[in-house]
Amino acid sequence: MAYPEPLEALIAAFEQFPGIGRRSAERLAFHALRDPKARTLAPALERAVRETQRCSICANVAERNPCPICADERREKTRLCVVEEPRHVETIERAGTWRGVYHVLLGAFQPAEGTEERHLGLPRLIERVQREGVREVVLATDPDAEGEATAALVLERLEALGKKELVVSRLARGLPSGSGIEYLHKGILEDAFAHRRELRTHREGS
Ligand SMILES: [Zn+2]
Repeated sequence: MAYPEPLEALIAAFEQFPGIGRRSAERLAFHALRDPKARTLAPALERAVRETQRCSICANVAERNPCPICADERREKTRLCVVEEPRHVETIERAGTWRGVYHVLLGAFQPAEGTEERHLGLPRLIERVQREGVREVVLATDPDAEGEATAALVLERLEALGKKELVVSRLARGLPSGSGIEYLHKGILEDAFAHRRELRTHREGS
């Protein structure tokens, strides 16, 4: 006995979410049918899709393009903080310690799962660094295996540019390894930025 087709379609929609299997999708679908409050999901989702967009400069999600951070005259445009996801921008902004701008990769480098280099925002990052006179790139990818692999890949591509004046750094060790940037407290993030390690030091004259 199958569920009615419209209900099957709803279950299938929930199954698209990361970490949601068939059983959870069924539970969510039945809950959405039963609880009127849960039905605000559909209009909220539609509105979020309609009223937000990707910033064409940094790929952050915002109501306007460019996003408020890229549009802010007071931000240092020559310093880029590279993160995996738009929600990591929010986390770092809450810590209030970074005065540069961002570059969102929209994922981590996971060759085994088919996330190849060209699927990340890496080509756009290289373009920005080449075109916009970027002086510093801080790699703030997650302190887990994928985040480290992503940081190594980005570093390799940046070094290949052979830009002597460019400094590439990584957030300080001491971040709880295996954790995601978004779970870090303000103080830990402040510290990680303050003690970021320089990964290359080919400065002019040195
Ligand atoms: Zn932006």
